[in-house]
Amino acid sequence: MSSDAKAIKKSVHNPIRIDPETCVKCNLCDWICPGDLIYKEEDNRETLPVIAYPDECWYCGLCQSICPVDAITVIFPDQMINCQTDVKTLLGKVIE
Ligand code: SF4
Ligand code: SF4
Repeated sequence: MSSDAKAIKKSVHNPIRIDPETCVKCNLCDWICPGDLIYKEEDNRETLPVIAYPDECWYCGLCQSICPVDAITVIFPDQMINCQTDVKTLLGKVIE
C-alpha cells in the first residue's frame, strides 16, 4: 500500500464504537444495518462485529438502538456536529 493510500485509510472516521467487554456477539447489529456495513461471523460466538465500510455509514443509529446490552455508541464526525456549511449550500435555494 502506498503512503498516500495509507494516509487516506487512516483518515476515515470510525462511525461506531463497540465495547468488546459488553458485546455478547449476538449478530443483531450486523442484521439491522441498512447499508450492510457491519460484519459479524454468523456461527462464531467468539468474534466481535467489525465495521467493514466505515465511510459509508448513514449515522442512522439502528445498530445502537437494537444492541441488547448497549455495547454500541455512534460517534458523529466533527463536521456533522460543528457544520460550517450554510443551509443554502447544503440544500440549495431556500424559499423565504
Ligand atoms: S449507524 Fe446505521 S448505517 Fe451506521 S453502522 Fe449503525 S446501523 Fe449501519
Ligand atoms: S448487537 Fe451489540 S451485543 Fe450484539 S453483536 Fe452487535 S455490538 Fe455485540
